[in-house]
Amino acid sequence: MTASTERVAIVTGASRGIGRAIALRLAAAGLRVVCVARGTNAAETVDVIRGRGHQAESHGVDVTDAEAVEHLVADVLARHGRIDVLVSNAGITRDQLMLRMKRADWDAVLATNLTASFTWCQAVLKPMIRQRAGRIIAISSVVGQMGNAGQANYAASKAGLIGFCKSLAREVASRQVTVNVVAPGLVESDMTRAIAEAAKADWASQIPLGRMGTPEDIAAAVGFLASDDASYITGQVLAVNGGMYM
Ligand code: NAP
Repeated sequence: MTASTERVAIVTGASRGIGRAIALRLAAAGLRVVCVARGTNAAETVDVIRGRGHQAESHGVDVTDAEAVEHLVADVLARHGRIDVLVSNAGITRDQLMLRMKRADWDAVLATNLTASFTWCQAVLKPMIRQRAGRIIAISSVVGQMGNAGQANYAASKAGLIGFCKSLAREVASRQVTVNVVAPGLVESDMTRAIAEAAKADWASQIPLGRMGTPEDIAAAVGFLASDDASYITGQVLAVNGGMYM
């Protein structure tokens, strides 16, 4: 194992939207960012980071493939000797009202949004505990806090993340590993581009700050939680939602 003093972050779902903005933010803060998405999807994010003179690498891993996740974590450790930050951000929606929701849509959303976070956290915990330092940040959603018709699967996965992270935070705090959640509101990305304009306008009208969030708004919160300034914060849910849910 090569010992390194350079801080290393893993960001899942780094190819687009919120995860891409988080990867750019952490790289600008001086971390080497391991960008994860399917196939070669995260390559463009890595090109941008490198073009700005920062360090990053792209890995094609499906976050629901536990073996591939464990393999990547072992590989990162072998090459860099440490993992300082995990941002579990990859997520999907399969919206449908309960009466019409297919079991497969429930399973897919839970597997990607919740079970994959379990896999990633379990894989990075040992090295973080050994280091006596680590930051785990999971991306939940305002929907996990307030519910949303048509998103029972998504809301369950995002609410589940909150309980999961609070429990994990209690387990590993004595080792100086912090575990926090960022809960975005309605954010401009591919995920919300699919929502009809009328529905989006209705949602936006419920946002006291009067606009949708940007991926950069969320990345700023994650950047803070990953920084030295947040060393005394654990088990928290930081809502970045324009006041949509207080
Ligand atoms: P997005 O634009 O749809 O991007 C989703 C990201 O997740 C992509 O990078 C995608 O990578 C990755 N991903 C999905 N399934 C994957 C899998 N099985 N394996 C590996 N990577 C996978 O979504 P977003 O809006 O940026 O959302 C990011 C996170 O924020 C999600 O957890 C979402 O639930 C949460 N969130 C979003 C909003 C919002 O309004 N946008 C609000 C609250 C919370 P590929 O390139 O491989 O597809």
